[in-house]
Amino acid sequence: MTDLTGRTCLITAAAQGIGAASAKAFARAGAKVIATDINAEKLAEIEGIDGISTRLLNVLSDEAVANAALEIGPVDILFNCAGVVHNGSVLDMKEGDLDFAYDLNVKAMVRTVQAFLPGMLEREYGVIINMSSVASSLKGVPNRFAYSTTKAAVLGMTKAIAADYVTKGIRCSAICPGTVDSPSLQDRLRATGDYEKARADFIARQPIGRIGTPEEIADLAVYLAGATYTTGQAHIIDGGWTC
Ligand code: NAD
Repeated sequence: MTDLTGRTCLITAAAQGIGAASAKAFARAGAKVIATDINAEKLAEIEGIDGISTRLLNVLSDEAVANAALEIGPVDILFNCAGVVHNGSVLDMKEGDLDFAYDLNVKAMVRTVQAFLPGMLEREYGVIINMSSVASSLKGVPNRFAYSTTKAAVLGMTKAIAADYVTKGIRCSAICPGTVDSPSLQDRLRATGDYEKARADFIARQPIGRIGTPEEIADLAVYLAGATYTTGQAHIIDGGWTC
């Protein structure tokens, strides 16, 4: 098991879903976790778990991210988990979806990396984990134009950061899940108007026969934090969807 004792880990979008499961998994592995999100009510549910402290952080704000880095100081592990899913093809996505998806799925990661990477470089140690998806440059998925475009950008960003800092003690990896059971997935299923059919359709596209759990993705994030010979790769965890 990965031992992260003595490591500090900041996670964005940690109030629910994969982010919350990751906060718990990193804490179990011994890390001191700073779990951040914009949802104070949900964050309160994980505050007080051994090893976890929480903090409000809106990753859409340059100022908030810069202030967080000043107040928190250097971290060893940065898990950029925040992201949003928009429905629609290139022709029928809504006005503003692509800009918003770029801001939250891509530029927010740039903000946190710019804020926390200098501290990692000073200590010549750091792990950056970026949340992508198989719906990216890895697989064409219907009705996910803005999402897939931005999650592909996350893979480009991950490789660029990995290449720039591979000799400076920094590793940067991406996680590419298939479908994972999270609160926002439940919202998307309900929004279809036929929950049971939508759920069955999502399950049917995962050859393993079920949707993934946030805990399974969290385990991969912890593994990557301790995996000292990998950087710049897209780590697929998708129940065989792309195999
Ligand atoms: P989720 O969508 O259920 O929760 C998202 C969290 O992000 C919420 O707690 C929300 O408050 C927070 N958030 C929203 N805007 C924010 C902001 N501006 N600043 C900080 N936090 C903010 O969680 P999930 O489904 O586990 O998704 C987490 C990540 O995993 C996302 O990047 C998503 O794209 C990616 N992902 C999810 C799936 C899936 O099927 N669930 C599959 C592949 C990739």
